[in-house]
Amino acid sequence: MSNCGVFKTRKKTYPVLVRNCTIGDGNPIVIQSMTNTNTEDVEATVKQIIELYSAGAEIVRITVNSPLSAKKVPEIRARLEDAGYDIPLVGDFHYTGHILLRNYPECAKALDKYRINPGNVGKGAKKSEHFSIICKIAKDLGKPIRIGVNIGSLDEELVKTKMDENARLHEPYSPEEVYDECMVISAIESIEEALKEGLSHNQIVVSCKSSSPLQLIRVHRKLSSLTMQPLHIGLTEAGSGYRGIVWSTTPLAILLSEGIGDTIRISLTPTSSSDRREEVYVAQEILQSLGLRSFSPQVISCPGCGRTANLLFQEIAEKVQDYVRTHIPEWKLKKYRGFENLKIAVMGCIVNGPGEARFANIALSLPGREEQPQCSVFINGVKKISLTGNPEEITTRFIELIEDYIRTHYST
Ligand code: SF4
Repeated sequence: MSNCGVFKTRKKTYPVLVRNCTIGDGNPIVIQSMTNTNTEDVEATVKQIIELYSAGAEIVRITVNSPLSAKKVPEIRARLEDAGYDIPLVGDFHYTGHILLRNYPECAKALDKYRINPGNVGKGAKKSEHFSIICKIAKDLGKPIRIGVNIGSLDEELVKTKMDENARLHEPYSPEEVYDECMVISAIESIEEALKEGLSHNQIVVSCKSSSPLQLIRVHRKLSSLTMQPLHIGLTEAGSGYRGIVWSTTPLAILLSEGIGDTIRISLTPTSSSDRREEVYVAQEILQSLGLRSFSPQVISCPGCGRTANLLFQEIAEKVQDYVRTHIPEWKLKKYRGFENLKIAVMGCIVNGPGEARFANIALSLPGREEQPQCSVFINGVKKISLTGNPEEITTRFIELIEDYIRTHYST
């Protein structure tokens, strides 16, 4: 899959190795996720890390916010290793990172990266002291850090200084622009401080999270012009459902099209009908839709209209999508090479059915209102057979044909 020259070249950045996964330096854009379990609950946390990883998260962040959670991190790592998972784990620290990493060296060793929020690492002289402690531990253990600036927890002293300076200007900037500047300053000064503490350029990833898509774009454009550290991008507090998905996707698509961004996270609030893995699927769909990476076969289906005879094509499209998603791990295990590039189409009538079928590897075109009652299957653009039977039989047979296609075209 190619973006056919739509995008600008990726910005050059330093590579940062997080266990077995390299961020930046032109490597594939990495998908990250974060658990929402209590880290003190080892069983629930291990289960969710594995779920997120199996869904496609390549780096998983966990909260480390108490002595007990820090104590449990080595146990989490051991449980993952016992189960055969080599998953890069990031510790998310706020306020007490310097204490927890210092007092629980086994936790520091078990983690692969430390996320530091410069806005809540300490105040005044304590800020540098605490930041320095974390950097020293990272340096001694050869671990990378992420300097994770967040609009909701910006350094208050920095914001006050910049707001006061702005108020004295003849033509002051908007408060939002002052916040932009504060986020960039906080990130750049923290990078410089980390380098002074002895970390190398290959140990620092940076992010500036905001809940405003436009601010996210402005800040990362500026940041990418000022630093070669790899950038972690994503809207924070995006919300849930289609709001969260659209608001996350819009700024990311713009930034990624400009070659900005080396790793992404989609911060969705799970709904009663979705779980944590949704954010990983959305991240995959963003990257795949932009031609940046391939993760899973594409299922194309039409929206339906007045020609649609019934809801059958919607049901089949949904079942095929579910089938594909749940069978990716199995196809990976069977080492089917290139199966992620498979294109499946499920169309509601003959208007676009045969046309879309020409671009799909395997397509099902259902009969529209007042059309011949036949369900045509196209393989590589050529009509091969017509399926008959009840909806369940048609779905089952179409899925069998998809399996046949994968087996015969992607076996190594
Ligand atoms: S393919 Fe047919 S049923 Fe589907 S939206 Fe187009 S015209 Fe309507």
